[in-house]
Amino acid sequence: MWPLASHHSFKINNYASDVFNVTSVAEARSVANLDNYLILGEGTNTLFIDNYDGVIVKSCITGISYEEKKSGWHIRVGAQENWHDFVVWTLTKNICGLENLVLIPGSVGAAPVQNIGAYGVEVSQYIQSVEAVHIDTGESHTIANTECEFSYRDSIFKKNPRSWLITHVNFNISKAWQPNLSYPALADLNNQTSISARAIADAVTAIRSSKLPNPNEIPNAGSFFKNPVVSAERYQQLIEDFPNLIAFEVGGDYKLAAGWLIEQLGLKGTCCGDCCVHDKQALVLVNRGNATGDNVLALCRLIQQRVEQRFGVILEPEVRMIGRNGLIDDITKYQRS
Ligand SMILES: Cc1cc2nc3c(=O)[nH]c(=O)nc-3n(C[C@H](O)[C@H](O)[C@H](O)COP(=O)(O)OP(=O)(O)OC[C@H]3O[C@@H](n4cnc5c(N)ncnc54)[C@H](O)[C@@H]3O)c2cc1C
Repeated sequence: MWPLASHHSFKINNYASDVFNVTSVAEARSVANLDNYLILGEGTNTLFIDNYDGVIVKSCITGISYEEKKSGWHIRVGAQENWHDFVVWTLTKNICGLENLVLIPGSVGAAPVQNIGAYGVEVSQYIQSVEAVHIDTGESHTIANTECEFSYRDSIFKKNPRSWLITHVNFNISKAWQPNLSYPALADLNNQTSISARAIADAVTAIRSSKLPNPNEIPNAGSFFKNPVVSAERYQQLIEDFPNLIAFEVGGDYKLAAGWLIEQLGLKGTCCGDCCVHDKQALVLVNRGNATGDNVLALCRLIQQRVEQRFGVILEPEVRMIGRNGLIDDITKYQRS
């Protein structure tokens, strides 16, 4: 049995059957021989609700190599490198572009999976290609950006979670740097005479630290629910009933701020056992110490029910919930053993 508590940021004391640390592309090819497996980075978007009857596969390939070209930099990064440390490394080399993505927890290998994004930037803007082993065939592929099917928090890797083991990510970062201050909270920086990538990174760090609990201090899995998307018609009905509703237009539909919906119900600070809605950020559930999978399920379902009753909107978890046999498709039906 392999303890999972220190391998996912929500830190529930569950176990997997075993672990397989992949340290080379050759070893990645043997993953196909495993019966039941789950690829895990740093576990900051993964929550083990139950013991997992399978092997945890970890891509333990590290290292950063880079080449400076006339127009920019090509950087190849091993999947196990920590994302935030990599962003800081780029800034120390005066390579600018990733600064808005500073402080996102997790590994470089997981970054393309959900096309991580924050403060107006998505990682796919800087990925040239992803190197991955196709688990069924054991073949190594270099998958070009255009083939990764990147979209909002999605990619070919997320759609096919057991097919690809990412070993390296290749970045292409142009020297023609343009600060991205499109996110309202960064707009104040526009007033400065000269803006540096480091100043943006510092501002993002300050905003993130004030809004989100640090998982190393208070175990959590970041935004617990996805922001639900509703039709324009439904949005019009909702805004009449709830004039302060926070929503953003996306391609004719509307994305509602899930945190706002939860906050309106007065659920901040609500707990089931040691699993609680964070008292400052309603979209984040935290583990106060000894939360169990049942506590998480109970609180998740309570929030879903209350939001549906009040707003007629169904919240879906953003976090990957893992049960005995792997990814849980429908959290409303899952029974712990
Ligand atoms: C406090 C907090 C704040 C966060 N803020 C943001 C944010 O601003 N923006 C954002 O986009 N996300 C955010 N997240 C979510 C999380 O940081 C990202 O999803 C991150 O990329 C997860 O990295 P990980 O290594 O922990 O992945 P894991 O949770 O270990 O895995 C996530 C997925 O990637 C797959 N995976 C991991 N490594 C590999 C690999 N080598 N090959 C193939 N598949 C792999 C896993 O199978 C799984 O499907 C936040 C999380 C927390 C806890």
